[in-house]
Amino acid sequence: MATDLDKTFNESVEKLSMAADTAALETWYRETLGKKGSITLLARQIGKLPAEDRPQFGQQLNQVKKNLQEAFERRETAVKTAELEAKLAGDAIDVTMPGRTRLRGGLHIITKTMRDIYRIFGDMGFQIYRSPDVETDKYNFELLNFPPHHPARDMQDSFYTTTPDVILRTHTSGGQIRAMHEYYPEPVRVIVPGMCYRNEQITARSEIQFTQVEGLVVGHHITFADLKGTLTEFAHRMYGPQRQTRFRASYFPFTEPSAEMDVSCFLCDGDGCQVCKYTGWLEILGCGMVHPNVLRNGGYDPQIYFGFAFGIGPERIAMLKYGIDDIRQFWSNDLRFLRQF
Ligand SMILES: [Zn+2]
Repeated sequence: MATDLDKTFNESVEKLSMAADTAALETWYRETLGKKGSITLLARQIGKLPAEDRPQFGQQLNQVKKNLQEAFERRETAVKTAELEAKLAGDAIDVTMPGRTRLRGGLHIITKTMRDIYRIFGDMGFQIYRSPDVETDKYNFELLNFPPHHPARDMQDSFYTTTPDVILRTHTSGGQIRAMHEYYPEPVRVIVPGMCYRNEQITARSEIQFTQVEGLVVGHHITFADLKGTLTEFAHRMYGPQRQTRFRASYFPFTEPSAEMDVSCFLCDGDGCQVCKYTGWLEILGCGMVHPNVLRNGGYDPQIYFGFAFGIGPERIAMLKYGIDDIRQFWSNDLRFLRQF
């Protein structure tokens, strides 16, 4: 019987080496180590042996079973690995594997606000005019009627470059002169959007960089009524048609007369609240009729041409519209803030 055991063991090992897939392995197991397998059948015959031979045969049998079991497990691992490799090579895309999520970006709140402003003025026939971020003193101040040593320059302390008289623009108003030089003698109807830079103490209300949308209209029959109509339409489109507007006299070197425009507070509807400082009004922009000196500097004869100009701060517009109380949030790159819009 020991010879039978050896023979069965050798045959089984050979058969196992030929089992090339999971189904063949299952068959092999059933036929060898299963309830009716060849080894199991041999084990049942142990009773036919003389009593003194039984322990030795039992030991041999257990060793054979153990060896076969281990050989089976090794073969099984090898076959399964080969099967998985073949499968992966066969289908390049495994639809059952979990996907990689893609990070989603979004538009910055100021970009969105700028686009709202473009859309409103675009509908009224304005075109977008780009002027450089780095500007000469001449375009940023002089031609806009800020002579050297004019006190209004104090409010716009700039960043200077190493080239004399070349600065980072403190407003996009310089684009007024550039647009006039480019379009003379045609009428002008442009908005000039972009980043501005001022040497300021950074606080909740002031930043060293911020955006501005300057507007300029020049033509033959432009009056203050055109200014009021255009800017009131802007306020209604931006904050809702029920908003009231008012113009207060102000001063800017490049407009005469100059005004600031307020809208009735949309939080308290004019009753007075913390945001409007209990006045019922919110200041949203500065404006005025283009100063004759500025028209002249742009190449237009102020006896024949008239114009109006305005300057809008998108940060201020967004702060009022969305109730943001600190201007530093816009450029602090805090995703918790940015994701809210
Ligand atoms: Zn209010």
